[in-house]
Amino acid sequence: APVVAVVGRPNVGKSTLVNRIIGRRQAVVEDVPGVTRDRVAYDALWTGRRFTIVDTGGWEPDARDRAAAIAAQAEAAVATADAVLFVVDARVGATDVDEAAVKMLRRSAKPVLLVANKVDNAAQEIESMSLWSLGLGQPYPVSALHGRGSGDLLDAVLEALPVPAPAEAPRPRGPRRVALVGRPNVGKSSLLNRLSQEDRAVVDAVAGTTVDPVDSLAQIGGETWQLVDTAGLRKRVGQASGTEYFASLRTKAAIDAAEVAIVLLDASEPISEQDQRILSMVTESGRALVLAFNKWDLVDEDRRYFLEREVERELRRIPWALRVNVSAKTGRAVERLAPALHQALANWEKRVPTGQFNQWLTALVQATPHPIRGGRAPKVLFATQAGTSPPRFVLFSTGPLDAGYVRFVERKLREEFDFEGTPVEVTVRPRK
Ligand code: GDP
Repeated sequence: APVVAVVGRPNVGKSTLVNRIIGRRQAVVEDVPGVTRDRVAYDALWTGRRFTIVDTGGWEPDARDRAAAIAAQAEAAVATADAVLFVVDARVGATDVDEAAVKMLRRSAKPVLLVANKVDNAAQEIESMSLWSLGLGQPYPVSALHGRGSGDLLDAVLEALPVPAPAEAPRPRGPRRVALVGRPNVGKSSLLNRLSQEDRAVVDAVAGTTVDPVDSLAQIGGETWQLVDTAGLRKRVGQASGTEYFASLRTKAAIDAAEVAIVLLDASEPISEQDQRILSMVTESGRALVLAFNKWDLVDEDRRYFLEREVERELRRIPWALRVNVSAKTGRAVERLAPALHQALANWEKRVPTGQFNQWLTALVQATPHPIRGGRAPKVLFATQAGTSPPRFVLFSTGPLDAGYVRFVERKLREEFDFEGTPVEVTVRPRK
């Protein structure tokens, strides 16, 4: 198993952190320097992956030259570990002793995560971000004692570790899960019939998965996709039995179960309230989105002209949605759904490296600062991508930001890093 070493000055909370990570209930740590005696390795498990965590906390540096001693400790950890957690007491901030170790850590090729410990609340979390100045990248604020932030830290640890050996690797994924949704009569059943495969047993074997009987497998662009909850469409029972309310619950459930939604629209008819509601369901549930304008065989020059105006007006909330014009009847362009689905999914899962992101953001907010409010302009200090699927970003700022400014940042963010086909969430954490 890969090895993670925990290093840092005495009393920053290394052993408490190790206890937290290995899930030991009782803390063996007292608030006294040097209380833990040995360098010990423990087995740890997080979201199905094993690693070994080494606590160097017992090691008490020579009081005469602490800085050099801590640096040596870090050096030893780097030499033996696959990743290093460098723990700093966020309430104290970075000390000279920390800086000496950091110098050494920055030269190493091993991944180093900066842990800002003893962060018990949101205010301290924002304070802890000053540790960016150490040059180890994003600080991970945690409270080893109470558990705050430790999940995010562990996620980052796993990401930093070398890719697991084949035996340990997750089994190849099955087909991607797609919701095929739209209001009645847009052509969902027709499209499903064109795409779906009858011989489920064969396809199940090929894909190496068992597909829920309410789902369908479909071939698009020479690949197999899992269309979730299409039982009603296959049997053509949905319409007769379903009130609109029931149908909308079903649509919502299908979207939630999917990774990406194809929202089918009828290109020969105006975009309706009901279409809008379904589109909102997709963006609200944070799924990737592909728009398919069906019945394109019915679209003539005139209709096309009006449709484009309509799209501009009615779909301006989602200018990032990918669009394919198809005909379930003739088969026109249905294969083009595949590259659109892939692009939407790739962007949905995209991660922008924190360094690159902040570099870009700094330039952006310098070029276009926030307008002045009450005599002062709130400043964006830095940002981080908090997650994917969909991409979620957090902006840390000196004060609340105008909604319009946040939208501006999101628009620029989309231009710069390409998030076509996916909703993006941008939240602001103003300093109190
Ligand atoms: P659902 O309610 O969304 O499943 O829609 P259906 O698949 O039942 O289709 C509704 C009606 O539209 C049927 O009469 C279909 O024959 C017709 N239809 C579906 N797709 C197309 C298309 O691409 N072109 C044309 N001209 N008609 C279509």
